[in-house]
Amino acid sequence: MLSNLATRDVETLIHPYTNLAGFRETGPLVLERGEGVRVYDSEGKAYIEGMAGLWCTSLGYGNAELVEVAREQMAKLPFTHLFGGKSHDPAIELAEKLKEIAPVPISKVFFCNSGSEANDTQVKLVWYMNNALGRPKKKKIISRIKAYHGVTVASASLTGLVNNHRDFDLPIANILHTACPHHYRFAEPGETEEDFASRLATELERMILAEGPETVAAFIAEPVMGAGGVIVPPATYYEKIAPVLARYDVFFIADEVICGFGRLGEMFGSPVMGMKPQSISIAKALSSAYLPIGGVMVPEVMYQAMLDESRKIGTFGHGFTYSGHPVTAAVALKTLEIYERDDLVGKVRKLIPVFQKRLGALADHPLVGEARGKGFVGAVELVADKATKRAFDPKQGVGARCAAFAQDEGLIARAMGDAVALCPPLVITEAEVEEMFDMLGRALDRTE
Ligand code: PLP
Repeated sequence: MLSNLATRDVETLIHPYTNLAGFRETGPLVLERGEGVRVYDSEGKAYIEGMAGLWCTSLGYGNAELVEVAREQMAKLPFTHLFGGKSHDPAIELAEKLKEIAPVPISKVFFCNSGSEANDTQVKLVWYMNNALGRPKKKKIISRIKAYHGVTVASASLTGLVNNHRDFDLPIANILHTACPHHYRFAEPGETEEDFASRLATELERMILAEGPETVAAFIAEPVMGAGGVIVPPATYYEKIAPVLARYDVFFIADEVICGFGRLGEMFGSPVMGMKPQSISIAKALSSAYLPIGGVMVPEVMYQAMLDESRKIGTFGHGFTYSGHPVTAAVALKTLEIYERDDLVGKVRKLIPVFQKRLGALADHPLVGEARGKGFVGAVELVADKATKRAFDPKQGVGARCAAFAQDEGLIARAMGDAVALCPPLVITEAEVEEMFDMLGRALDRTE
Protein backbone atom coordinates (compact mmCIF):
# COMPACT_ATOMS: atom_id res chain seq x y z
CA MET A 1 0.00 0.00 0.00
CA LEU A 2 1.58 3.27 -1.12
CA SER A 3 1.46 6.37 1.07
CA ASN A 4 -0.46 9.42 -0.07
CA LEU A 5 2.72 11.17 -1.26
CA ALA A 6 3.93 8.04 -3.05
CA THR A 7 0.58 7.64 -4.84
CA ARG A 8 0.67 11.27 -5.98
CA ASP A 9 4.23 10.71 -7.21
CA VAL A 10 3.29 7.67 -9.26
CA GLU A 11 0.43 9.59 -10.83
CA THR A 12 2.46 12.65 -11.78
CA LEU A 13 6.20 12.09 -12.25
CA ILE A 14 8.30 10.37 -14.86
CA HIS A 15 11.38 9.32 -12.93
CA PRO A 16 14.75 9.35 -14.67
CA TYR A 17 16.57 6.01 -14.79
CA THR A 18 13.71 4.01 -13.34
CA ASN A 19 11.90 0.88 -14.42
CA LEU A 20 8.65 2.65 -15.16
CA ALA A 21 6.61 -0.55 -14.95
CA GLY A 22 8.03 -1.97 -11.69
CA PHE A 23 8.00 1.44 -10.08
CA ARG A 24 4.20 1.68 -10.24
CA GLU A 25 4.06 -1.04 -7.59
CA THR A 26 7.00 -0.12 -5.35
CA GLY A 27 6.61 3.67 -5.42
CA PRO A 28 9.40 6.08 -4.42
CA LEU A 29 11.50 6.52 -1.31
CA VAL A 30 10.50 10.07 -0.42
CA LEU A 31 13.40 11.90 1.24
CA GLU A 32 12.76 14.98 3.27
CA ARG A 33 15.96 16.33 4.76
CA GLY A 34 19.64 15.67 5.31
CA GLU A 35 22.38 16.39 7.83
CA GLY A 36 26.04 15.42 7.51
CA VAL A 37 26.20 12.12 5.60
CA ARG A 38 22.65 11.14 6.52
CA VAL A 39 19.32 11.71 4.80
CA TYR A 40 15.90 11.17 6.38
CA ASP A 41 12.74 9.92 4.71
CA SER A 42 9.23 11.26 5.15
CA GLU A 43 8.74 8.85 8.04
CA GLY A 44 11.87 10.02 9.84
CA LYS A 45 14.00 6.95 9.08
CA ALA A 46 17.73 7.78 8.71
CA TYR A 47 20.02 6.48 5.96
CA ILE A 48 23.73 6.94 5.37
CA GLU A 49 23.85 8.40 1.86
CA GLY A 50 26.46 5.92 0.69
CA MET A 51 26.30 7.24 -2.87
CA ALA A 52 26.61 10.95 -2.05
CA GLY A 53 23.32 11.30 -3.93
CA LEU A 54 24.56 10.39 -7.39
CA TRP A 55 28.32 10.60 -6.77
CA CYS A 56 27.99 14.31 -6.02
CA THR A 57 27.12 15.63 -2.54
CA SER A 58 30.73 15.64 -1.40
CA LEU A 59 30.22 18.08 1.46
CA GLY A 60 27.23 16.11 2.70
CA TYR A 61 23.96 17.70 3.75
CA GLY A 62 23.07 20.83 5.67
CA ASN A 63 26.20 22.82 4.84
CA ALA A 64 25.28 26.26 6.18
CA GLU A 65 28.09 28.06 4.36
CA LEU A 66 26.81 26.95 0.95
CA VAL A 67 23.27 27.95 1.89
CA GLU A 68 24.45 31.37 3.01
CA VAL A 69 26.56 32.10 -0.07
CA ALA A 70 23.60 31.15 -2.29
CA ARG A 71 21.28 33.39 -0.29
CA GLU A 72 23.70 36.32 -0.49
CA GLN A 73 24.22 35.96 -4.23
CA MET A 74 20.49 35.56 -4.86
CA ALA A 75 19.83 38.77 -2.96
CA LYS A 76 22.64 40.64 -4.75
CA LEU A 77 22.28 39.47 -8.35
CA PRO A 78 20.27 36.29 -8.87
CA PHE A 79 20.90 36.17 -12.58
CA THR A 80 22.78 37.57 -15.43
CA HIS A 81 23.99 35.57 -18.39
CA LEU A 82 27.36 35.41 -20.11
CA PHE A 83 26.01 35.75 -23.67
CA GLY A 84 27.47 38.41 -25.91
CA GLY A 85 30.14 39.33 -23.41
CA LYS A 86 28.15 40.07 -20.25
CA SER A 87 29.88 38.84 -17.13
CA HIS A 88 29.93 38.77 -13.36
CA ASP A 89 32.32 38.23 -10.50
CA PRO A 90 31.43 34.67 -9.41
CA ALA A 91 31.89 33.18 -12.91
CA ILE A 92 35.21 34.99 -13.41
CA GLU A 93 36.55 33.92 -10.01
CA LEU A 94 35.38 30.35 -10.44
CA ALA A 95 37.07 30.07 -13.84
CA GLU A 96 40.27 31.53 -12.38
CA LYS A 97 40.18 29.06 -9.50
CA LEU A 98 39.61 26.11 -11.83
CA LYS A 99 42.54 27.16 -14.01
CA GLU A 100 44.69 27.36 -10.89
CA ILE A 101 43.85 23.85 -9.67
CA ALA A 102 43.64 22.12 -13.07
CA PRO A 103 45.89 19.06 -13.35
CA VAL A 104 46.98 20.05 -16.90
CA PRO A 105 47.44 23.49 -18.52
CA ILE A 106 44.04 25.03 -19.15
CA SER A 107 43.33 28.21 -21.08
CA LYS A 108 39.62 28.85 -20.56
CA VAL A 109 36.55 27.39 -18.88
CA PHE A 110 33.11 27.01 -20.47
CA PHE A 111 30.25 26.56 -17.99
CA CYS A 112 27.06 24.57 -18.39
CA ASN A 113 24.61 22.85 -16.06
CA SER A 114 25.41 19.16 -16.00
CA GLY A 115 27.85 16.44 -16.90
CA SER A 116 25.81 15.57 -19.98
CA GLU A 117 25.97 19.14 -21.22
CA ALA A 118 29.70 19.21 -20.54
CA ASN A 119 30.28 16.14 -22.69
CA ASP A 120 27.90 17.31 -25.41
CA THR A 121 29.92 20.52 -25.43
CA GLN A 122 33.14 18.51 -25.69
CA VAL A 123 31.84 16.81 -28.83
CA LYS A 124 30.81 20.11 -30.38
CA LEU A 125 34.09 21.83 -29.47
CA VAL A 126 36.14 19.04 -31.00
CA TRP A 127 34.14 19.30 -34.21
CA TYR A 128 34.34 23.11 -34.20
CA MET A 129 38.09 22.95 -33.58
CA ASN A 130 38.72 20.52 -36.40
CA ASN A 131 36.67 22.59 -38.83
CA ALA A 132 38.75 25.58 -37.77
CA LEU A 133 41.94 23.62 -38.33
CA GLY A 134 40.85 22.78 -41.88
CA ARG A 135 40.35 19.06 -41.29
CA PRO A 136 36.60 18.61 -41.61
CA LYS A 137 36.90 14.83 -42.00
CA LYS A 138 38.48 14.40 -38.54
CA LYS A 139 35.24 14.00 -36.56
CA LYS A 140 34.98 10.53 -35.03
CA ILE A 141 35.10 10.28 -31.27
CA ILE A 142 36.08 7.07 -29.55
CA SER A 143 34.54 6.20 -26.22
CA ARG A 144 34.48 2.85 -24.41
CA ILE A 145 32.03 0.06 -23.83
CA LYS A 146 30.47 0.59 -20.35
CA ALA A 147 31.50 4.26 -20.29
CA TYR A 148 29.03 6.70 -18.82
CA HIS A 149 29.09 10.23 -20.17
CA GLY A 150 25.46 11.33 -19.80
CA VAL A 151 22.13 11.16 -21.57
CA THR A 152 21.77 14.07 -23.99
CA VAL A 153 21.95 12.99 -27.63
CA ALA A 154 25.72 13.25 -28.07
CA SER A 155 26.69 12.33 -24.51
CA ALA A 156 24.33 9.32 -24.49
CA SER A 157 26.00 8.26 -27.72
CA LEU A 158 29.37 8.46 -25.95
CA THR A 159 27.92 6.38 -23.12
CA GLY A 160 28.62 2.72 -23.81
CA LEU A 161 25.65 1.11 -22.05
CA VAL A 162 22.88 -0.74 -23.85
CA ASN A 163 19.97 0.88 -22.02
CA ASN A 164 21.09 4.34 -23.05
CA HIS A 165 21.05 3.41 -26.75
CA ARG A 166 18.32 0.80 -27.18
CA ASP A 167 15.07 2.25 -28.54
CA PHE A 168 16.54 5.76 -28.51
CA ASP A 169 18.10 5.19 -31.95
CA LEU A 170 21.57 5.92 -30.58
CA PRO A 171 24.49 6.23 -30.94
CA ILE A 172 24.61 9.02 -33.50
CA ALA A 173 27.10 8.86 -36.37
CA ASN A 174 30.79 9.47 -35.67
CA ILE A 175 30.76 7.91 -32.19
CA LEU A 176 32.63 4.61 -31.71
CA HIS A 177 33.24 2.38 -28.71
CA THR A 178 36.44 0.55 -27.96
CA ALA A 179 37.01 -2.17 -25.36
CA CYS A 180 36.24 -1.74 -21.67
CA PRO A 181 39.34 -1.90 -19.43
CA HIS A 182 37.80 -4.30 -16.91
CA HIS A 183 40.33 -7.04 -16.27
CA TYR A 184 38.00 -9.23 -14.16
CA ARG A 185 35.39 -9.43 -16.93
CA PHE A 186 37.28 -9.04 -20.17
CA ALA A 187 40.81 -10.40 -19.74
CA GLU A 188 41.71 -13.56 -21.66
CA PRO A 189 42.36 -16.60 -19.44
CA GLY A 190 45.77 -16.16 -17.79
CA GLU A 191 46.27 -12.64 -19.15
CA THR A 192 48.05 -10.34 -16.67
CA GLU A 193 46.75 -6.82 -16.06
CA GLU A 194 49.81 -5.50 -17.87
CA ASP A 195 49.19 -7.69 -20.93
CA PHE A 196 45.51 -6.82 -20.88
CA ALA A 197 46.37 -3.10 -20.89
CA SER A 198 48.78 -3.64 -23.81
CA ARG A 199 46.15 -5.56 -25.76
CA LEU A 200 43.57 -2.80 -25.24
CA ALA A 201 46.03 -0.16 -26.44
CA THR A 202 46.71 -2.30 -29.53
CA GLU A 203 42.97 -2.73 -30.14
CA LEU A 204 42.49 1.03 -29.89
CA GLU A 205 45.27 1.57 -32.40
CA ARG A 206 43.71 -0.99 -34.76
CA MET A 207 40.38 0.79 -34.53
CA ILE A 208 42.00 4.15 -35.36
CA LEU A 209 43.84 2.62 -38.32
CA ALA A 210 40.75 0.78 -39.58
CA GLU A 211 38.66 3.96 -39.42
CA GLY A 212 41.47 6.06 -40.90
CA PRO A 213 43.41 8.33 -38.50
CA GLU A 214 42.40 11.34 -40.61
CA THR A 215 38.78 10.68 -39.48
CA VAL A 216 39.42 10.11 -35.76
CA ALA A 217 39.18 13.30 -33.71
CA ALA A 218 39.11 12.39 -30.03
CA PHE A 219 39.12 9.77 -27.31
CA ILE A 220 37.10 10.28 -24.11
CA ALA A 221 37.56 8.44 -20.83
CA GLU A 222 36.53 8.59 -17.19
CA PRO A 223 39.67 8.05 -15.07
CA VAL A 224 37.72 5.39 -13.14
CA MET A 225 34.50 4.34 -14.88
CA GLY A 226 31.57 5.06 -12.60
CA ALA A 227 28.05 4.24 -13.69
CA GLY A 228 29.31 1.34 -15.83
CA GLY A 229 29.98 -0.44 -12.52
CA VAL A 230 33.02 1.28 -10.91
CA ILE A 231 35.69 -0.09 -13.21
CA VAL A 232 39.31 0.69 -12.38
CA PRO A 233 41.58 0.25 -15.41
CA PRO A 234 44.88 -1.59 -14.93
CA ALA A 235 47.71 0.60 -13.60
CA THR A 236 49.48 1.03 -16.95
CA TYR A 237 46.41 1.35 -19.17
CA TYR A 238 46.47 5.12 -19.71
CA GLU A 239 50.25 5.09 -20.04
CA LYS A 240 49.86 2.67 -22.95
CA ILE A 241 46.92 4.52 -24.53
CA ALA A 242 48.65 7.93 -24.51
CA PRO A 243 51.26 7.27 -27.25
CA VAL A 244 48.57 5.76 -29.50
CA LEU A 245 46.51 8.93 -29.23
CA ALA A 246 49.57 11.12 -29.76
CA ARG A 247 50.66 9.11 -32.83
CA TYR A 248 47.43 9.87 -34.68
CA ASP A 249 46.78 13.33 -33.27
CA VAL A 250 43.69 12.19 -31.39
CA PHE A 251 42.51 14.76 -28.84
CA PHE A 252 42.28 13.33 -25.30
CA ILE A 253 39.26 14.26 -23.16
CA ALA A 254 38.96 13.28 -19.51
CA ASP A 255 35.48 13.02 -18.06
CA GLU A 256 36.15 13.99 -14.43
CA VAL A 257 32.46 14.34 -13.60
CA ILE A 258 32.73 11.71 -10.83
CA CYS A 259 36.48 11.53 -10.23
CA GLY A 260 37.05 15.28 -9.98
CA PHE A 261 37.29 17.20 -6.70
CA GLY A 262 38.85 14.72 -4.35
CA ARG A 263 37.10 11.44 -5.07
CA LEU A 264 40.27 9.50 -5.83
CA GLY A 265 42.41 11.21 -3.18
CA GLU A 266 43.68 14.12 -5.27
CA MET A 267 41.80 17.13 -6.56
CA PHE A 268 41.47 15.46 -9.98
CA GLY A 269 41.38 11.78 -10.88
CA SER A 270 43.53 12.06 -14.01
CA PRO A 271 46.92 12.31 -12.25
CA VAL A 272 45.95 9.48 -9.89
CA MET A 273 45.34 7.23 -12.89
CA GLY A 274 48.32 8.43 -14.93
CA MET A 275 46.21 10.32 -17.48
CA LYS A 276 47.36 13.50 -19.20
CA PRO A 277 44.21 14.72 -20.93
CA GLN A 278 43.95 17.85 -23.06
CA SER A 279 40.48 18.93 -21.99
CA ILE A 280 38.39 18.03 -18.96
CA SER A 281 34.66 17.72 -18.24
CA ILE A 282 33.57 18.63 -14.72
CA ALA A 283 30.26 18.74 -12.82
CA LYS A 284 28.72 17.15 -9.70
CA ALA A 285 31.10 17.72 -6.74
CA LEU A 286 32.16 21.07 -8.21
CA SER A 287 29.19 22.52 -6.30
CA SER A 288 28.76 19.53 -3.99
CA ALA A 289 25.48 19.24 -5.94
CA TYR A 290 23.89 22.09 -3.99
CA LEU A 291 23.11 23.61 -7.39
CA PRO A 292 23.51 22.12 -10.88
CA ILE A 293 26.73 22.99 -12.66
CA GLY A 294 29.00 21.53 -15.31
CA GLY A 295 31.97 22.78 -17.24
CA VAL A 296 34.57 22.13 -19.87
CA MET A 297 38.17 23.06 -19.15
CA VAL A 298 39.66 23.97 -22.52
CA PRO A 299 43.37 24.02 -23.47
CA GLU A 300 45.02 26.86 -25.39
CA VAL A 301 45.28 24.90 -28.64
CA MET A 302 41.52 24.36 -28.70
CA TYR A 303 40.74 27.90 -27.64
CA GLN A 304 42.96 29.37 -30.38
CA ALA A 305 41.20 27.24 -33.00
CA MET A 306 37.81 28.33 -31.67
CA LEU A 307 38.94 31.93 -31.80
CA ASP A 308 40.02 31.51 -35.43
CA GLU A 309 36.72 29.88 -36.37
CA SER A 310 34.78 32.64 -34.67
CA ARG A 311 36.88 35.23 -36.53
CA LYS A 312 35.84 33.51 -39.75
CA ILE A 313 32.16 32.84 -39.11
CA GLY A 314 31.20 35.26 -36.34
CA THR A 315 29.43 34.30 -33.14
CA PHE A 316 30.51 31.13 -31.35
CA GLY A 317 27.05 29.61 -31.52
CA HIS A 318 26.91 27.53 -28.38
CA GLY A 319 25.88 28.25 -24.80
CA PHE A 320 23.15 27.79 -22.26
CA THR A 321 20.97 30.42 -20.59
CA TYR A 322 22.42 29.28 -17.29
CA SER A 323 26.07 28.92 -18.40
CA GLY A 324 27.98 30.31 -15.41
CA HIS A 325 24.81 31.13 -13.44
CA PRO A 326 25.93 33.58 -10.73
CA VAL A 327 24.31 31.81 -7.77
CA THR A 328 25.63 28.43 -8.90
CA ALA A 329 29.07 29.86 -9.57
CA ALA A 330 29.16 31.46 -6.11
CA VAL A 331 28.21 28.13 -4.52
CA ALA A 332 30.84 26.26 -6.55
CA LEU A 333 33.49 28.79 -5.60
CA LYS A 334 32.61 28.39 -1.92
CA THR A 335 32.67 24.60 -2.34
CA LEU A 336 36.21 24.74 -3.73
CA GLU A 337 37.20 27.12 -0.91
CA ILE A 338 35.88 24.64 1.69
CA TYR A 339 37.68 21.69 0.05
CA GLU A 340 40.92 23.66 0.29
CA ARG A 341 40.43 25.31 3.69
CA ASP A 342 39.39 22.07 5.42
CA ASP A 343 42.02 20.01 3.56
CA LEU A 344 39.22 17.65 2.65
CA VAL A 345 41.30 15.85 0.05
CA GLY A 346 44.02 15.26 2.67
CA LYS A 347 41.41 13.90 5.09
CA VAL A 348 39.98 11.63 2.42
CA ARG A 349 43.46 10.35 1.61
CA LYS A 350 43.85 9.27 5.25
CA LEU A 351 40.50 7.44 5.19
CA ILE A 352 40.93 5.75 1.81
CA PRO A 353 42.86 2.79 3.31
CA VAL A 354 40.00 2.18 5.76
CA PHE A 355 37.42 2.37 2.97
CA GLN A 356 39.41 0.14 0.62
CA LYS A 357 40.23 -2.40 3.36
CA ARG A 358 36.58 -2.86 4.29
CA LEU A 359 35.62 -3.00 0.61
CA GLY A 360 38.34 -5.55 -0.16
CA ALA A 361 37.21 -7.74 2.75
CA LEU A 362 33.82 -8.17 1.06
CA ALA A 363 35.56 -10.21 -1.64
CA ASP A 364 35.36 -13.14 0.81
CA HIS A 365 31.58 -13.08 0.78
CA PRO A 366 30.13 -16.05 -1.13
CA LEU A 367 28.12 -13.78 -3.43
CA VAL A 368 30.93 -11.38 -4.31
CA GLY A 369 32.91 -12.14 -7.46
CA GLU A 370 34.97 -8.97 -7.31
CA ALA A 371 35.31 -6.15 -4.77
CA ARG A 372 36.92 -3.25 -6.61
CA GLY A 373 37.53 0.41 -6.11
CA LYS A 374 39.89 3.33 -6.05
CA GLY A 375 40.04 6.19 -3.61
CA PHE A 376 36.63 6.80 -2.13
CA VAL A 377 34.56 4.88 -4.65
CA GLY A 378 33.98 1.16 -4.86
CA ALA A 379 31.65 -1.65 -5.85
CA VAL A 380 31.04 -5.32 -5.24
CA GLU A 381 30.03 -7.44 -8.22
CA LEU A 382 27.62 -10.21 -7.26
CA VAL A 383 27.95 -13.47 -9.20
CA ALA A 384 26.13 -16.78 -9.36
CA ASP A 385 29.41 -18.71 -9.28
CA LYS A 386 32.61 -17.25 -7.87
CA ALA A 387 34.90 -19.85 -9.45
CA THR A 388 33.63 -19.40 -13.01
CA LYS A 389 32.57 -15.72 -12.55
CA ARG A 390 29.18 -16.72 -13.97
CA ALA A 391 26.79 -13.78 -13.74
CA PHE A 392 23.23 -14.01 -12.45
CA ASP A 393 20.41 -13.85 -14.96
CA PRO A 394 19.73 -10.08 -15.11
CA LYS A 395 15.99 -10.81 -14.73
CA GLN A 396 16.68 -12.00 -11.17
CA GLY A 397 17.67 -8.44 -10.20
CA VAL A 398 20.11 -9.66 -7.55
CA GLY A 399 22.03 -6.36 -7.38
CA ALA A 400 18.81 -4.40 -6.98
CA ARG A 401 17.71 -6.78 -4.23
CA CYS A 402 20.96 -6.27 -2.36
CA ALA A 403 20.60 -2.48 -2.65
CA ALA A 404 17.02 -2.80 -1.34
CA PHE A 405 18.26 -4.78 1.68
CA ALA A 406 20.94 -2.12 2.22
CA GLN A 407 18.24 0.53 2.19
CA ASP A 408 16.30 -1.46 4.73
CA GLU A 409 19.45 -1.57 6.88
CA GLY A 410 19.74 2.22 6.61
CA LEU A 411 22.27 2.56 3.79
CA ILE A 412 21.72 4.04 0.36
CA ALA A 413 23.88 2.11 -2.11
CA ARG A 414 23.45 1.91 -5.89
CA ALA A 415 22.93 -1.20 -7.97
CA MET A 416 24.21 -1.05 -11.52
CA GLY A 417 23.23 -4.43 -12.83
CA ASP A 418 24.73 -6.79 -10.26
CA ALA A 419 27.44 -4.36 -9.17
CA VAL A 420 26.50 -2.54 -5.97
CA ALA A 421 28.38 0.73 -5.54
CA LEU A 422 29.38 3.02 -2.71
CA CYS A 423 30.63 6.57 -3.18
CA PRO A 424 30.05 8.40 0.11
CA PRO A 425 30.28 12.11 0.82
CA LEU A 426 33.91 13.10 1.36
CA VAL A 427 33.01 14.43 4.82
CA ILE A 428 32.25 10.94 6.12
CA THR A 429 34.07 9.96 9.35
CA GLU A 430 35.96 6.73 10.00
CA ALA A 431 33.17 5.49 12.30
CA GLU A 432 30.61 6.17 9.56
CA VAL A 433 32.73 4.30 6.99
CA GLU A 434 32.74 1.30 9.34
CA GLU A 435 29.00 1.60 9.89
CA MET A 436 28.38 1.82 6.14
CA PHE A 437 30.29 -1.40 5.43
CA ASP A 438 28.64 -3.17 8.39
CA MET A 439 25.29 -2.38 6.80
CA LEU A 440 26.40 -3.47 3.33
CA GLY A 441 27.73 -6.72 4.83
CA ARG A 442 24.36 -7.42 6.45
CA ALA A 443 22.57 -6.60 3.17
CA LEU A 444 24.82 -9.09 1.33
CA ASP A 445 24.04 -11.75 3.95
CA ARG A 446 20.33 -11.21 3.33
CA THR A 447 20.68 -11.41 -0.46
CA GLU A 448 20.28 -14.80 -2.12
N1 PLP B 1 29.92 11.84 -16.90
C1 PLP B 1 30.04 10.99 -15.87
C2 PLP B 1 31.35 10.32 -15.64
C3 PLP B 1 28.97 10.74 -15.02
O1 PLP B 1 29.08 9.86 -14.02
C4 PLP B 1 27.76 11.41 -15.26
C5 PLP B 1 26.60 11.18 -14.37
O2 PLP B 1 26.60 10.31 -13.51
C6 PLP B 1 27.66 12.26 -16.35
C7 PLP B 1 28.76 12.47 -17.14
C8 PLP B 1 26.38 12.95 -16.66
O3 PLP B 1 26.14 13.93 -15.74
P1 PLP B 1 24.68 14.54 -15.56
O4 PLP B 1 23.82 13.46 -15.00
O5 PLP B 1 24.92 15.69 -14.62
O6 PLP B 1 24.22 15.00 -16.89
